[in-house]
Amino acid sequence: MIIDVHAHFDDEKFNCDIDECLKKAKEAGVTHIINAAVDYETSLKSLELARKYDFIYCVLGIHPDSADEYSPEKLAAIEELIKKEPKAVGVGETGLDYYWLPKDNPDEVARLKALQKVSFTEHIRLSERLRLPIVVHDREAHKDTYDILKENLSGKVEGVLHCYSGSAEMVKDFEELNLSFSVGGVVTFTNGVKLVEAVKKMPRERILIETDSPYLTPVPYRGKRNDSSYTVYTARRLAEILDVSYEYVCRLTTENALRVFGRMH
Ligand SMILES: [Zn+2]
Repeated sequence: MIIDVHAHFDDEKFNCDIDECLKKAKEAGVTHIINAAVDYETSLKSLELARKYDFIYCVLGIHPDSADEYSPEKLAAIEELIKKEPKAVGVGETGLDYYWLPKDNPDEVARLKALQKVSFTEHIRLSERLRLPIVVHDREAHKDTYDILKENLSGKVEGVLHCYSGSAEMVKDFEELNLSFSVGGVVTFTNGVKLVEAVKKMPRERILIETDSPYLTPVPYRGKRNDSSYTVYTARRLAEILDVSYEYVCRLTTENALRVFGRMH
């Protein structure tokens, strides 16, 4: 059994063969998939998937790359969706992404950063209000991500740093905020050394597995479309790094995911 805590099966890359993909995932031992929305439209699509497939759950929110979509009204509409749907198990994905900012346009960079921060902060407040975990996207924004989380989290809700890309040193800081770390295909890459070092510092009860499908496919399928069945390669690599059995990694990360996403069963 493996839980893929972060995937995007609403992506058009799955339009033609989603049933086949999900069947393949089940055969590989995947028991739950959490589909992450990136805006209002994909929140609706994620809900559709969760209603159609018994082992799909979802988290709903606005991605930092879609920060222009953020408004208090939009987030209030997403809040209503979460409240009505028991298979909506968290808030996100939200966070900060400085990688895609238009670096040749400083005014626009400042505007988008400010907007991302407001949206992120309001998502955290929503997760606190609903007592549901927050799913955080952090790309090239570790310091600001940490500062905003520290300022706004009470420590009472759990949360996930999806596709963790921070340093080994920062693991302790995030851990103190009651956050867990989800690890994806990057851990199998030859240039994934930084992540391997971080994994060694992660408390075992805070390690989760994800694919971020259709992106970040693990070796030996790197470069191809990702799907949840490939979690097995990430789990195998984790077993190697932690020097434990594959079965142990599956059991551990499953227990962790069920604790963090307490609404999932
Ligand atoms: Zn994602």
